[in-house]
Amino acid sequence: MSIADAFGRPLRNLRVSVTDRCNLRCQYCMPEEHYVWLPRADILSFEEIGRLVDCFTDLGVDRVRLTGGEPLMRHDLPLLVRQLAAKPALRDLALTSNGVLLAEQAAALAAAGLRRVTVSLDTLRPDRFQALTRRAGLDQVLNGIAAAGAAGLRPLKLDTVVMRGINDDELIDLIEYGKTVAAEVRFIEYMDVGGATHWSAERVYPRASILDDLARRYGAIAALREESAAPAERYRLPDGTVFGIIASTTAPFCRACDRARLTADGMWYLCLYARAGIDLRAALRRGATREELAALITGGWQARHDRGAEERVVHRDRAPLLPASELRKDPHLEMHTRGG
Ligand code: SAM
Repeated sequence: MSIADAFGRPLRNLRVSVTDRCNLRCQYCMPEEHYVWLPRADILSFEEIGRLVDCFTDLGVDRVRLTGGEPLMRHDLPLLVRQLAAKPALRDLALTSNGVLLAEQAAALAAAGLRRVTVSLDTLRPDRFQALTRRAGLDQVLNGIAAAGAAGLRPLKLDTVVMRGINDDELIDLIEYGKTVAAEVRFIEYMDVGGATHWSAERVYPRASILDDLARRYGAIAALREESAAPAERYRLPDGTVFGIIASTTAPFCRACDRARLTADGMWYLCLYARAGIDLRAALRRGATREELAALITGGWQARHDRGAEERVVHRDRAPLLPASELRKDPHLEMHTRGG
């Protein structure tokens, strides 16, 4: 069975945040000193996540990505992976991580049935890593990437948020590094989402500039023609290297968006920019049946008319989506709670 929203978009992809905690404090995601965390008692158990995933797969979801916060901070994550990997309806089970804890967990995750991993990597320079994430740990991340490859977690992807004047001089270094670890690099435009309280239009390094820089170094770049709801557009360099660009700020892709997000405490968001979500935890803990939960999800999705990123593009004087004071009132508005 599959369900469609108000614009005819199917529900296929679910990003499941397993924790709102993170061991980094990336400037573009968590720039403040203090955070309001989700209450521990509200965090879904693995059994509860599994029950919700079953409802989503009943309705057409066949791809799940585990995220956070930093998902590897969730205790015993391989147990959840094992449980989800056993669900025949899931064609794709992936994980997005900052890589800090990946070296110690990659083998266990692969053994539990995880198929692939995307590691966020914004710089290859230790001093810059420290400045951007406000933590040390670049070596651990690079070891994590190596361990993921060795554990067979492929295809391996590296996600880089490109910011003007911060790391836009590392595009070529990152492509070259990607070649050495057989990973596809995806450059992401800096987004004005919740959490990015210091966002400014000047800091956005747009897709056109990324392509110009790479073409100057490598020669003509070919766009790959692909039918896909995935946010990245993919390109090929003359030497065959494939990379992606996620132009979610200058050229968003809402009309193909088949993704929704479940927070660690069971709030379901239909758009990264949505102010409000649907409380699935309350229904679950009230004892709702699988059919009742499916009805709640179906009603929410069929009413969906969100195109948050496209609506942001038309704003003149575009500024951060929300001030830190708003985010403190409702941590669900944070990128590290929504899962990116
Ligand atoms: N901790 C994990 C990680 O680092 O990949 C998963 C959660 S993180 C919120 C998911 C993704 O969101 C990361 O790739 C991160 O770079 C991206 N992200 C966070 N804030 C962003 C922003 N303002 N613009 C673009 N991407 C952002």
